[in-house]
Amino acid sequence: MKILAIGAHPDDAEIGCGGLLAMEGVSKHIVHLSNGETSKYTDGEVRRQEAEAAAQVLTAQVHFFDIPGRQITENETDCLRLVSLIREIRPDYLVTHWDLDGHPDHQGAYHLVRKAFFLSGARVPLDVPPWKCRNILYFHPFSLGYGFTPHFVLDITAVYPKKLEALRCHQSQESFVLPQVEAVSRYFGQSSGVERAEPFRAEMPFVLHRESLLELRRK
Ligand SMILES: [Zn+2]
Repeated sequence: MKILAIGAHPDDAEIGCGGLLAMEGVSKHIVHLSNGETSKYTDGEVRRQEAEAAAQVLTAQVHFFDIPGRQITENETDCLRLVSLIREIRPDYLVTHWDLDGHPDHQGAYHLVRKAFFLSGARVPLDVPPWKCRNILYFHPFSLGYGFTPHFVLDITAVYPKKLEALRCHQSQESFVLPQVEAVSRYFGQSSGVERAEPFRAEMPFVLHRESLLELRRK
């Protein structure tokens, strides 16, 4: 399975789907749309280095789009750039922000990715041939707010230490981020019968095959 996670700022993807990104047997790429230079804690160069260190922990390839903060929108230039990257990587799933989020950059990322998801499989003349991803999974970096009701949760109990290791690479944000990740993963885990979980919404319904149902019955 191949996934392409797209976050507005360095650390968003790791917060929202760091457990998924930490799983073995998954080929992963992370796009950071901005360098997070608008952070009140540090500058963009530091955040870029932190993101590179986190990607190493997760064995993910990292891509920086260098879009200035507060300018992440579904504009044609950035959208076609993202479409080209999707077509090159050919991921099964895109993973990004849910739109009901107080941060304008997170909302911008949602709209940009949703448009690129459609256009990557459409007849848009670019150097790379079209590629249709199976689905978009949506996360909310701090999913206890804004009425984020997940369509499913992912059991990340086994990979939670790896997720934390990646998040600790974002030292400038650590004190702010870790307590929230701790609370969210435990809340959605405990309410689903596992220790730690990441909540997701999906653009389209998932198909559940007979094998998956039998697997569920065994648990
Ligand atoms: Zn963010």
